[in-house]
Parts: sequence; C-alpha cells; structure tokens
Amino acid sequence: MKTDTCAVCDCPLDHARKSVRIGGRTVEVCCDECAQTLRDAEIATRAAAAEATAAKHAEG
Ligand SMILES: [Zn+2]
Repeated sequence: MKTDTCAVCDCPLDHARKSVRIGGRTVEVCCDECAQTLRDAEIATRAAAAEATAAKHAEG
C-alpha cells in the first residue's frame, strides 16, 4: 500500500514530496529537511552496525 505521509514527520505529502532511496528501498518525505534527516539516520545506523561488527571481530 502506498503511504501518503512523510516517513519522517508524518505530515501529509503534497506536490513537493521527495523520494529518498534508503537501504535499497524508496521512501517519500515532505521536504529536503526530512530527506536529510533520513540520510543522517541511515548513516548513523550503518556506522553502528559497522562498529558492532568490528567489536565482534575484536572479541575473536
Ligand atoms: Zn516530513
């Protein structure tokens, strides 16, 4: 089902909607600010995952 609200702030999407590709899927947000929030969140998630992997390797 297609959602018609911003993936970040849940505002209704209008003609100014933006599509952002995150982790292999496309989500829609209402503005550039929300798009940037999504990208930042994905970078943080990736960094955390990389750290967790590194920690596991360090444990042996
Ligand atoms: Zn938004």
